[in-house]
Amino acid sequence: MQDKINKSEKEWKAQLTPEQYHVLREKGTERAFTGGYWDCKTDGVYRCAGCGAELFDSKTKFDSGSGWPSFFEAVSPERVELETDMSHGMVRIEVNCAKCGGHLGHVFNDGPAPTGKRFCINSASLNLDDK
Ligand code: FE
Repeated sequence: MQDKINKSEKEWKAQLTPEQYHVLREKGTERAFTGGYWDCKTDGVYRCAGCGAELFDSKTKFDSGSGWPSFFEAVSPERVELETDMSHGMVRIEVNCAKCGGHLGHVFNDGPAPTGKRFCINSASLNLDDK
């Protein structure tokens, strides 16, 4: 569907803010209720802050109460890559951008209809395109 982006960590560091770099390239997690989008209700498409790929539509965003922007599905399944994450003594499913490999967040099975999924995504990994 798309060409993958492969940049050196040096290039990513030059392009991203420290917060974006920490989340996208170091699999960091922003503190709950601190990001720019957890409470955002603006219509638009959330793009990857690393590569600009369209990842989540605001129509699929819901208030999870978690303090992170939450979506019940991606723009299309192939836009995200899911990986088992065994870090921090938990088994979770990590969500990465399929195009640039950037870490976005995790997906859980306690989301609302119609999918039952909850994509719990760091604001720092997203840029809202509200046009
Ligand atoms: Fe990306």
